[in-house]
Amino acid sequence: MMDYKDYIKLEEELGAHNYKPLDVVLNRGKGVWVWDVDGNKYLDCLAAYSAINQGHCHPEIVKTMVEQAQRLTLTSRAFRNDQLGLLYKEICDLTNSHKVLPMNSGAEAVETVIKAVRKWGYTIKGVPADKAEVIVCENNFHGRTITIVGFSTDENSKSGFGPFTPGFKIIPFGDADALESAISPNTVAFMVEPIQGEAGVIIPPKGYLKDVRSICQKNNVILILDEIQTGLGRTGKLLAEEHDGIESDLTLIGKALSGGFYPVSAVLSNKEVLGVLNPGEHGSTFGGNPLACAVARAALRVLIEEHMIENAAAMGEYFLSRLLELKSSYIKEVRGKGLMLAVELVPEAGNARNFTEKLMTLGLLCKETHEHTIRLAPPLVVTREEIDWAMERIETVLAT
Ligand SMILES: *Cc1c(COP(=O)(O)O)cnc(C)c1O
Repeated sequence: MMDYKDYIKLEEELGAHNYKPLDVVLNRGKGVWVWDVDGNKYLDCLAAYSAINQGHCHPEIVKTMVEQAQRLTLTSRAFRNDQLGLLYKEICDLTNSHKVLPMNSGAEAVETVIKAVRKWGYTIKGVPADKAEVIVCENNFHGRTITIVGFSTDENSKSGFGPFTPGFKIIPFGDADALESAISPNTVAFMVEPIQGEAGVIIPPKGYLKDVRSICQKNNVILILDEIQTGLGRTGKLLAEEHDGIESDLTLIGKALSGGFYPVSAVLSNKEVLGVLNPGEHGSTFGGNPLACAVARAALRVLIEEHMIENAAAMGEYFLSRLLELKSSYIKEVRGKGLMLAVELVPEAGNARNFTEKLMTLGLLCKETHEHTIRLAPPLVVTREEIDWAMERIETVLAT
């Protein structure tokens, strides 16, 4: 019989050390709960970085996945399948989009959108060849490919991986004036997270997205919202842009688009930007496959039908109010929207990792981001009682 330490040893010996996971070896999940190989139960307050919004192993998605897997999994886009068009229709109806391009990982959706806006710049806006610029923000997180880490400002993510793709300008997050000044005649797009997730749940000043929306409009610059983490109910709305009453030109979704079953991402287009792509110019063997589409359709359906978004709004408000009541000299700030929450610790509290490790021993799984921030983002099906259960543990570790 293998003991949990044996699994960890295998990972450490045979795997690349590109992650530093908590030493908990999970083998089962249901809703907000997961179990380790010794049968210990934990409340999952990370939800796979918001890919498990619908809860672990949602029975409807399981059923759909099994049925579709027995029928047809992959056709490649060389042929058509009976799931892709239906997924397009359902996404467009839900998000008021005009066109969809399906990919697999979030990073692939980001790469896709960069290609699309560059092509749009050359063919529609009239930018001279190879001069297109995309503006992004400091402390962004958009994925891990060479192009994407090239415009990261996190040294850990980029150092040692150059040379990088040119054509990006970096401005401060939350500063609409900085955007206005950075725009040049060659600017094709501005890409931003409505709330910066990996940076530590950083919420921009009120009115920022509205200002950004109008600056982009005025300058014929495409507004790309990366909602891979903020989207699909996480912040208490289907898309975080709704909090500001705006519509992007292009939106990226991923993560919870499959309820955590399978990598599915998509570029949603409100204008005809995606219309610039012609056959042969972009693709993916697995993108838009019938298994992915069936799973994504089920994941979206349960999100809506089971009122998970409304629950995220209500439970997020409750969780935030409970966190704000915490009296601890370790806490610098508590912030969040919906069920995307963070507790930032004062530097004297030491590394947030010490707290997430303690929380693990008490049955609560969450992850530090950077040195001093604990992120809390349970599946959207979490109940008040489960939040109370989590709060008891959080109170314990933050007691001073
Ligand atoms: C997770 C994430 C990505 C990258 O998604 P992967 O599926 O890991 O490639 C991109 N943007 C944001 C905002 C994310 O949170």
